[in-house]
Amino acid sequence: MANQYISTRNANIKIDAKQAIIKGFSDDKGLFVLPDLSNRHVELSTLIKKDYLGMAAEILKVLLPDFSNEEINQCLHNAYDHSFSDQRITPVKSVDNFHVLELFHGPTSAFKDVGLQLLPELMRTALTPNQRVMILAATSGDTGTAALAGFKDTDQMGISVFFPDGGVSPIQKQQMLTTKGNNTNVAAINGNFDDAQTNVKHIFNDQQLKAKLGDHISLSSANSINIGRLIPQIVYYFNAYKQLVENGQVAVGHPVSFTVPTGNFGDVLAGYYAKLLGLPVKKLVVACNSNKVLADFFANGVYDRNRPFFKTVAPSMDIQISSNFERLLFYKSGEDSNMIKALMDQLESTGKYQVSAELLAAIQEDFACGYSDDAQIEKSIKTVFEQYHYLMDPHTASGYSVMRREQAKDPDTPMVLLSTASPYKFVDAVADAVIGHHEENAIDTTKELADFTNVAVPKNLAQVWSLPEAKAPVINPSQMAEFVYQRSMEVFNHD
Ligand SMILES: *Cc1c(COP(=O)(O)O)cnc(C)c1O
Repeated sequence: MANQYISTRNANIKIDAKQAIIKGFSDDKGLFVLPDLSNRHVELSTLIKKDYLGMAAEILKVLLPDFSNEEINQCLHNAYDHSFSDQRITPVKSVDNFHVLELFHGPTSAFKDVGLQLLPELMRTALTPNQRVMILAATSGDTGTAALAGFKDTDQMGISVFFPDGGVSPIQKQQMLTTKGNNTNVAAINGNFDDAQTNVKHIFNDQQLKAKLGDHISLSSANSINIGRLIPQIVYYFNAYKQLVENGQVAVGHPVSFTVPTGNFGDVLAGYYAKLLGLPVKKLVVACNSNKVLADFFANGVYDRNRPFFKTVAPSMDIQISSNFERLLFYKSGEDSNMIKALMDQLESTGKYQVSAELLAAIQEDFACGYSDDAQIEKSIKTVFEQYHYLMDPHTASGYSVMRREQAKDPDTPMVLLSTASPYKFVDAVADAVIGHHEENAIDTTKELADFTNVAVPKNLAQVWSLPEAKAPVINPSQMAEFVYQRSMEVFNHD
């Protein structure tokens, strides 16, 4: 079996896992994938006897063939030994007749910590001693925060985060401005998230900047298109299964379904990878908010982003191009890279593509999809709190009604709902749902919500308001490349 990654759009582009992690994505704009995934199995019954790190090690060995066992173990210990507040890393809580997989016990209280605590370790292991990498991230909140927490004070790497001025929640801004590190850089952009994102993509192809940075400094991405961020997320699907087995809620080998709040399709794709590796998954239920490009695709096979963009109460899912969906199309089409290239070229030029009925049916075999608008999200938060005293954040809540619909069709398969953020990261929407209003400022709302619900505020979020905050310059999108250059010189010149 071939042990190199290839581009989803060109099977002749071959690269080792280490290089794929350093680069982030392929020069032809495709995403790196390991071919033949369904022939790479892990042994379920042995795997689920291990702890989180033990499971992670077995999974990483399969998917990162050019890392030694020692390297993998070292990376895992550095990433997870001290950064999560629950020793299970991703604990499962049973609520009514479903189970919530809580992914928010990391340093920034969002599920992106699981990937972004490990990615810097994998990347540093992959670098040769004189290579330097500046990570670029455009963020609508969670990615930038978690990436700063993951990359701060790491050797050989720096990070520059760009957020839309006025476009992130107060607590997310506070988290970013209080992350201290000798290699962290944050700037607010005059513009929206798409302006920041588009310019980050331009910077990756800016030949003038590359020449100025020289051979030993390269640029990379902390987005979920990087396999080094995607692969760590496979582990928690196995970890959820393990906990259900231990609690007598499923017999080893019996199927389980998962409902996953979805934006860029990274989280739910990791569930599909888990299934290909041997986890007995019945259905992966994709949940969207009002930006429901995917829900429409599942209904008719047409992916069409030509539509109004909604700012919702679940902003981390306000996405119209789910980048990782390309990887699913790759596997489901029988690894047909020519077709993937044709579809993605169409998406780029017309904002739209259609797949064959056969390919749609193959996808529907493993996946279902639905969406919740803002009113439904708030209703779900309220219902679940009042009936079961479980407090969900708006992203998690987008999955609730979608999950219930699926459970009605298949009541006998145990269902796990992935919870992607602490409710205290999105206090306005959560307070509106359960109390009926929120306060002018987030500190007051947080306190009122905690008093009302008796649900504890995570320590890191409680402390963030009293930390000294740095200032972020506000710059125009046209100044981003210069910002990256200046900061790269500052971060790397002394070593
Ligand atoms: C990023 C994010 C999502 C979406 O995850 P994808 O991997 O992009 O599908 C959902 N919820 C929260 C809170 C997030 O931060």
